[in-house]
Amino acid sequence: MKVTKAEMIISAVSQKQYPSGDLPEIALAGRSNVGKSSFVNKLINRKALARTSSKPGKTQTLNFYRINDFFHFVDVPGYGYAKVSKTEREAWGKMIEEYFLEGDNLKAAVHVVDIRHRPSVDDVTMYEFLKFHEIPVIVVATKLDKIKKSQVGKHVKQVKETLQLHDEDVIIPFSSETAQGKDTAWKAIESFIL
Ligand code: GDP
Repeated sequence: MKVTKAEMIISAVSQKQYPSGDLPEIALAGRSNVGKSSFVNKLINRKALARTSSKPGKTQTLNFYRINDFFHFVDVPGYGYAKVSKTEREAWGKMIEEYFLEGDNLKAAVHVVDIRHRPSVDDVTMYEFLKFHEIPVIVVATKLDKIKKSQVGKHVKQVKETLQLHDEDVIIPFSSETAQGKDTAWKAIESFIL
């Protein structure tokens, strides 16, 4: 998709703030610092539309980005920060639960993981949560530029096995540095919104 317009619409904390209308939505999930903002910014050719690395303690919000007046990327705050308090963790859970349960425009989720490492317990929990809610998942295994070409297959296999990736879901090796995987990622996203 050629992006001609990309706007931040709203940072929402509850359902009443979600944008009205019925534009299809693609959610973006991933551990804090995994490279989620870099992924979005690369896809839409913007340097910094999506925030990078939200720090713990900052208000956690669902950020809606409207792309080409055609669909929304919904950026879900990252998980897995060790320093986050129990109260904050609970607020995060409540917010995403509300979104994934009640948002009816959601078509699929992009779940960003780090290709270098075996997915964490939190990554597995996130993936299982998405599957429990019957949401199609595009796993984007980012930071591809940080591993040797000869190691890619092994790492993809490790991610697939650890998440217990369902047959209907895809995994796309990706790099925000080199833009590898960008076309494939767009094709996968488009298959859910066109
Ligand atoms: P977020 O917290 O998930 O939104 O993560 P960011 O997009 O802010 O990325 C966290 C850090 O990883 C930043 O320093 C990025 O420059 C770096 N990063 C993200 N994606 C890539 C990638 O594909 N390759 C490399 N080498 N670094 C990346």
